[in-house]
Amino acid sequence: MTNIVELNNAQKRYQGVDALKGLDLELKQGELLGLFGHNGAGKTTTIKLILGLIKASGGEVRVFGEDPTLASARRQRRQLGFLQENVSFYEQLTGLEVLRYFANLKGVTRSECDRLLAQVGLADAARRRVKTYSKGMRQRLGLAQALLGEPKLLLLDEPTVGLDPIATQDFYHRIAQLKEQGCTVVLCSHVLPGVEKYIDRALILGQGQLLAEGSLEQLRQQARLPVTLNLQGSDIRLPESLQRQATRHGDGLRLQVALADKMPVMRQLLAVSGVSDLELHLPSLEDLYSHFIGNHQLQEESQ
Ligand code: ATP
Repeated sequence: MTNIVELNNAQKRYQGVDALKGLDLELKQGELLGLFGHNGAGKTTTIKLILGLIKASGGEVRVFGEDPTLASARRQRRQLGFLQENVSFYEQLTGLEVLRYFANLKGVTRSECDRLLAQVGLADAARRRVKTYSKGMRQRLGLAQALLGEPKLLLLDEPTVGLDPIATQDFYHRIAQLKEQGCTVVLCSHVLPGVEKYIDRALILGQGQLLAEGSLEQLRQQARLPVTLNLQGSDIRLPESLQRQATRHGDGLRLQVALADKMPVMRQLLAVSGVSDLELHLPSLEDLYSHFIGNHQLQEESQ
């Protein structure tokens, strides 16, 4: 299957700033990539390269098999949906007018606007001016705009900023549906909790460089962070081999073991007397992110 997005050693240099120092990326149809990194890491630059808004200073960018900056790629832009960070609209227009304006640009029928506004929970506010909208309502309108025309590639920069927890969940469900229908999604976010169950792969950037890439499982293997096991129960009699790894935790004990030892240790624990319950915590996306960013910072300091 051809790649929807392909970056080969893509670089971007602004006056004196190496925003992207050679990034490789392949995205297949229906994949959902999480793009993470601190402020200034190069996330927006990557998105702008994919959108064809800026030209790479070096390397190659291909979207639907074409250089997105070429005039011949214009046709493909209709298949793109984009939600930018800090979205803003013309305040005097109503939500429906704003969406109809974008629908015209994209060649999408007007009836889709009503459907999309209802989908993002703005049906009742559709005829109110944007200046009366709350931050979350503006973000919802931004989402409706990005979803116009059933895009094949969706680029979302901080899509859940300003959304309440229910709206955030609704948003991720909608994205999961689009993914099921074959839409490819790139999602940039600083809000990591909640994202991990939706993404297929994460790409962590630091100062324009790739720091880590892979599924959650692959990142766990790469990071080799310990797995935490919380044991509940009074008078837990751990075998000597596990005692060194145990600390007190509430009424019970906490064990930190290497990922590779997880199953053997669990088997051992099932036979330990006094354990009434056992909780397993695998490293979260946040833990992994901190690990890879921290490693990078240590490397930078030692140079
Ligand atoms: P954030 O999380 O803050 O949005 P980001 O990861 O999206 O950050 P980018 O916006 O891609 O980061 O910026 C990467 C680097 O490129 C930063 O050092 C930034 O200052 C620089 N940069 C971005 N746009 C320009 C520009 N138009 N001119 C000069 N430098 C720029």
